[in-house]
Amino acid sequence: MKASQFLISTLKEAPADAEIVSHKLMMRAGLIKRLGAGIYNYMPMGLRVIRKVEAIIREEMGRAGSIEMLMPVVQPAELWQETGRFDKMGPELLRVKDRHGRDFIIQPTSEEVITDVARQELRSYKQLPKNLYHIQTKFRDERRPRFGLMRGREFTMKDAYSFDRDVESAGKSYDAMFGAYCKIFDRLGLEYRAVAADTGAIGGDRSHEFQVIAETGEDAIVYCPTSSYAANIELAEALAPSAPRGAASQALTLTPTPGKSTCADVADLLGLPLTQTVKSLVLATDTLDDKGVVTGTQIWLLLVRGDHELNEVKAGKVKGLKGGFRFATAGEIDGAFGCKPGYLGPIGIKGVKIVADRTVAAMSDFVCGANQLDHHYTGANWGRDLPEPDLVADIRNVVAGEPSPDGQGVLAIQRGIEVGHVFYLGKKYSEAMNATFLAEDGKPRHFEMGCYGIGVTRLLGAAIEQGHDERGIIWPVSMAPFEVVICPIGMDRSELVREQALKLYEELKAAGVDVLLDDRGERPGAMFADWELVGVPLRVVLGDRGLKEGLAEVQGRRDAQASNVALAELLAQVQ
Ligand code: ATP
Ligand code: MG
Ligand code: MG
Ligand code: MG
Repeated sequence: MKASQFLISTLKEAPADAEIVSHKLMMRAGLIKRLGAGIYNYMPMGLRVIRKVEAIIREEMGRAGSIEMLMPVVQPAELWQETGRFDKMGPELLRVKDRHGRDFIIQPTSEEVITDVARQELRSYKQLPKNLYHIQTKFRDERRPRFGLMRGREFTMKDAYSFDRDVESAGKSYDAMFGAYCKIFDRLGLEYRAVAADTGAIGGDRSHEFQVIAETGEDAIVYCPTSSYAANIELAEALAPSAPRGAASQALTLTPTPGKSTCADVADLLGLPLTQTVKSLVLATDTLDDKGVVTGTQIWLLLVRGDHELNEVKAGKVKGLKGGFRFATAGEIDGAFGCKPGYLGPIGIKGVKIVADRTVAAMSDFVCGANQLDHHYTGANWGRDLPEPDLVADIRNVVAGEPSPDGQGVLAIQRGIEVGHVFYLGKKYSEAMNATFLAEDGKPRHFEMGCYGIGVTRLLGAAIEQGHDERGIIWPVSMAPFEVVICPIGMDRSELVREQALKLYEELKAAGVDVLLDDRGERPGAMFADWELVGVPLRVVLGDRGLKEGLAEVQGRRDAQASNVALAELLAQVQ
């Protein structure tokens, strides 16, 4: 590629809404351009990176026996009604109508469609196991789209689905995907950790998230540095053997509503199943006088289990119930925690995570988590824009240093970016959609399924969080938009430079190197700054003086200094 023919749109300054380094650098390097909240144009430079990631994913998925297909972005609601997710999924699911008033959804994932394909195409056990995947646009109407491609609303995901005849075989499919994911993230040059994640209603221990280690990550990982134990924080909390830590709270005194004092009671009132992941809600109860005037308010931290969005919807329904529960307002939440107005409020009900024990039932027992927060925040000068991960740091105080569940050391906490997720689904979807195959005994049987996602576009952000310096992005070679950039100095003035630059460019191209020739005629400083910002791993500078001695100047993006390389050896060195 010649730079003069390409679209390069680097910026001096990142836009104000870019909070974290990867978002800033992606905008400055012209990889993406914002079109709306959580919606981005993938610019030519960014698309090259995406395509490289996709190519590695395709290769490794193929090696692991997965077959590529493509499912539509717009999917009929009927399929989603079969599994109940059309109603259950809450506002993250984008629903649309066509001109006839028929309901459709924009896919956030594709279990329904693939199960529909399987129930039609996979008829016999002889066709199993099968693993199908696609790399397709997803839409999730995220509550808080942010950090550029990291939490977009429209994004690209690779999602694969396995179909097996029995649990044992499904386990093998799961392991194959787990292995493929390790290879993919290894090849992408990322520092990551596979952590155990909650399996919710499905049960079992087959759910792992692949977390790229980064301080800006929205997730927290609990791990043991001296053993292989690693879990996401929700799972670690849920399985914590001891009661909540910390003294009972003074800051937040919960006066139970008469007769409705336990978590189970409240969950019951909201109609929530207490069977899944522990999540927190901040609710309020108003004390009303005879005329219905509010005379006082209590703030409740409610730990519930189950689908978060569902909880919100249900909690919303009890709004206004006399003496019942409603969402605490932003101001009330800040007040209860002694925070500056606006600190916790925007984070809303999702922001407060409290460490708790599964077995604890009384509401007052949950307050210790609040006490930790209170201890941390009271008087502290918290600004309005502190990012949510700071809350994770509080959980860190609570759990780090505890003995690891495997008895092999003590726990540590770090933050991560979830870039992949493998999940054993069992018969959840095959039963809901009656997807069966004929087993060896001639009887129909439901498929054992697994689903396996990779956040293709999120990976760009994750890689930059790990690879950057003050000058810009430092891509792993496998992801870089170009592997080598040739920067000729004075190409318009010197025939020698021009001739050698074009020659090298052609040679590298012929050798299969992904090379860019910067023939824009920019001054050296501007040229170098651009490619350091974009993060091209290797730069070759050709100048009149060096060329006369048969030398080129070569510098790796991570190198402190350039070195002179004889032109004759250049090709061998660069490849
Ligand atoms: P998160 O916890 O970050 O919301 P998730 O658990 O909802 O992610 P999955 O349903 O497991 O996501 O989807 C598979 C992968 O898709 C995730 O591991 C992540 O890499 C990616 N992904 C999910 N949501 C987004 C998003 N809003 N923007 C970019 N990538 C995403
Ligand atoms: Mg999500
Ligand atoms: Mg997740
Ligand atoms: Mg996930």
